Amino acid sequence: MPIQILAPEVASQIAAGEVVERPASVVKELLENTLDAGAGKVSVRIEQAGQRLIEVEDDGSGIPAGEMELAVERHATSKLRKADDLFHIQTLGFRGEALASIGSVSRLTITSRGKDAETGKRLMVEGGSNHAPEIIGCPVGTLVRVEDLFYNVPARLKFLKKDSTERQQIDGLLTRYALAYPQVRFSLVQDGSRALQTTGSGSRRETLAALYGVDIARQMLEVSLEETAMQVHGFTSPVGLTRSNRKEITFFVNGRWVSDGSLNSALLRAYHTYLMVGRYPLTVLFIDMDPELVDVNVHPAKAEVRFRHPEQLFSLVQRSVRRALLAYAPAPLISVPTWHTSPSLPETQPHQYGINLDWQMAADVSAEDRPELPVPQQPDAPLDTDIALPDPPVGMQHYEPPSISSGQMPILRGLGQLGNTYIVAEGPDGLYLIDQHAAHERILFERMLKQIGKQIPSQRLLQGVSFVLPPRHARLLAEQLTFLNRLGFEVEEFGVDTFRVSAVPALLGKMDPAAAVRVVVEDFEEDETPLQSRIEDRLVARICKRVAVKGGQTLSNEEQLALLRDLEACQSPRTCPHGRPTMIHLSVDLLERQFGRRGSR
Ligand code: ADP
Ligand code: MG
Repeated sequence: MPIQILAPEVASQIAAGEVVERPASVVKELLENTLDAGAGKVSVRIEQAGQRLIEVEDDGSGIPAGEMELAVERHATSKLRKADDLFHIQTLGFRGEALASIGSVSRLTITSRGKDAETGKRLMVEGGSNHAPEIIGCPVGTLVRVEDLFYNVPARLKFLKKDSTERQQIDGLLTRYALAYPQVRFSLVQDGSRALQTTGSGSRRETLAALYGVDIARQMLEVSLEETAMQVHGFTSPVGLTRSNRKEITFFVNGRWVSDGSLNSALLRAYHTYLMVGRYPLTVLFIDMDPELVDVNVHPAKAEVRFRHPEQLFSLVQRSVRRALLAYAPAPLISVPTWHTSPSLPETQPHQYGINLDWQMAADVSAEDRPELPVPQQPDAPLDTDIALPDPPVGMQHYEPPSISSGQMPILRGLGQLGNTYIVAEGPDGLYLIDQHAAHERILFERMLKQIGKQIPSQRLLQGVSFVLPPRHARLLAEQLTFLNRLGFEVEEFGVDTFRVSAVPALLGKMDPAAAVRVVVEDFEEDETPLQSRIEDRLVARICKRVAVKGGQTLSNEEQLALLRDLEACQSPRTCPHGRPTMIHLSVDLLERQFGRRGSR
């Protein structure tokens, strides 16, 4: 084909693709415009996950009637004049591309009245072409309606994620901006139901409570560290409050939500040795610095930025978070290991620990808000880094890390408990270290799964307990009620964002009933609604994680042995329901080589 200049519609659709990838990116651009316009109140309405309608209304400065047509032109902006301004950007927008891009892939209607104008003006853009504008009466501020997004780009429509995913993206976006701008009153309505509402009181902790619930808001630790060139403020979770992914880690730089791998690592480094592998904190940090120290013009959607002094920033982030953690939990980690060697114990014992442990569990879970004991990183690390084995002797040819073969486990003889966390046991072929928490999780998990088909023992409450959830969580819980009710819960909707629980699985019987529901709802938002059985597995795994005996908890000899026997009876005794190992095996062979008895020299 000969070289040709692209037709304007084609060129603008290509350009639009960079800025508006999905409904959530439209919402983000429109939100940024309201904040740049100094809005005090921002209302967002979404239908069909943004595909049918995205409507954003603000009470900001409005668009002057004479500039309305310009606003929807590409590279038209009121926020930048010359190239040099790019390095002093104080606004969220500056590329002048959003409205033009949105207008080229949807039916866009902008209604706006400038703050000094008598009347307002309405302009409609359909697939990139403007209709004739009208003069109309309207309040000061701007209302942008985006209908039928991507109606003229069928290929893009095909790539959109499931509605539930898009909805969660939009929820997440509003949540972040609401936290970043606590002085703004945000509301979000999705398909007619309120998903989020903040007061605009200016208090971040209050906003946290509106978004995540009072419980989490109360637990979050305050982060604050100021240096001459940069400041960090925000919140981060104590070590006992974690998530299984990084989605709840958020950074704002000069009021802009950015994603940056190295900021993430700086944060996680602050938690080093405090978190189990695969667990992540909930964090939202607001970083402020001279606009000249950050280049915001490196990404079409402005989601990534570049820092002039990255090391200084990362160190600040790490120190600020570490300091917050230490102020809260100065006592480190696990106590000194103690050995209770009792080689004369009989091989089998009656299953007494069922009673004992149940009792201990109850004691443990009733202290609902108490963070889990910080467990050092090792228990969940990959096997070969799991224990500090000495370096292999020089010249040793075939060094193999301790291994676990797949399948069943041999009969073990319990020797004692190590660090109140691991059970030390002898097997026919060497030494085993069993992670008591992971092992108990596995035992409970298999038991409960077996019961699902029949009936999970459930404990009826004398009186139903009702509780209110933040709107976002309420919607997620409502979607999962059928699953919960198959797991021994009896939960029903009981008004706006309100639920009533009248029975809980017997395993969770000792816990405050509302807290018991929260245990399983907590991480819902991370789920992508897979097959039914998988959801049930995950919910069960969550329950078991919560009630399983913890690391750091002393077990009597009988309890240790009963745990071993129960683990042996499991189908997959070697991993916990989350896939981490329950045990480490040091074979006789390995020990002999390590002691230089064989094979090495
Ligand atoms: P940018 O935000 O990068 O300038 P946009 O395409 O998002 O580009 O918007 C173009 C212009 O339209 C903005 O510069 C601003 O002057 C005006 N505008 C857009 N949305 C609003 C709004 N909600 N309130 C006031 N002015 C707005
Ligand atoms: Mg903009």
